Amino acid sequence: MEIDDLESTSNSVHKSPPKKRRRVKKKKRNEEDEEYEENKNMATQINQKFGSKYKSNRKDETPMFEVRNGKSVIKNSGNHEATVNRTLDFHMTKLFQWEEQSDAIESSYVCALCHENGEKRELFGPYYATHNPIKYWPSFLAKKPTAKKPTKIELWFHGSCVLWAPNVHLHGNQLTNLDNQIDIFWSQTCIVCRKTGAAISVQNKKNTFIHYPCAKNKVFYRL
Ligand SMILES: [Zn+2]
Ligand SMILES: [Zn+2]
Repeated sequence: MEIDDLESTSNSVHKSPPKKRRRVKKKKRNEEDEEYEENKNMATQINQKFGSKYKSNRKDETPMFEVRNGKSVIKNSGNHEATVNRTLDFHMTKLFQWEEQSDAIESSYVCALCHENGEKRELFGPYYATHNPIKYWPSFLAKKPTAKKPTKIELWFHGSCVLWAPNVHLHGNQLTNLDNQIDIFWSQTCIVCRKTGAAISVQNKKNTFIHYPCAKNKVFYRL
């Protein structure tokens, strides 16, 4: 009896707790499985969005320098092309990414060259230029700042006005050489409307400049 009793007690003591523990474990594993599945799905989604573009089926080989029929050939690794493409893409994205520069003075929606607003023809921008207000300040764009130091200003342009402007080129989404050139353009007045920002030189007339729309309106100024 005593032994039986002991056995039964020992059985009952030994049997029940592991059962409980097992149940807890199983439940936990289910939760972990769910979490794993969720993570896996997320990883697949991320891979589909960002990863698959550059996936190469080629095995990644060690780069080699081979000599074949007396000619030397560089054999790039399998991932070489993917890496090059990824770098090029990165540079292109960076080039075309527009960044708002909050430290610049906000300007009116007016072409910085011909003074016309963007109602009739769409303006492109904003571009930014750092300009010294001591020499000249484009009051048709913004109020003159009180500080007498080079100030960054927001600029808008008509496509044709800026395309005809010499020494300014569109590189990605940036206009090159704008800081220097805008100072020059603002120092030149238009032969037709007498306003500043004339970028185009008039043929056969020294130190005579004109705005693109002014030249277009006056047939005798041939571009
Ligand atoms: Zn214009
Ligand atoms: Zn003009």
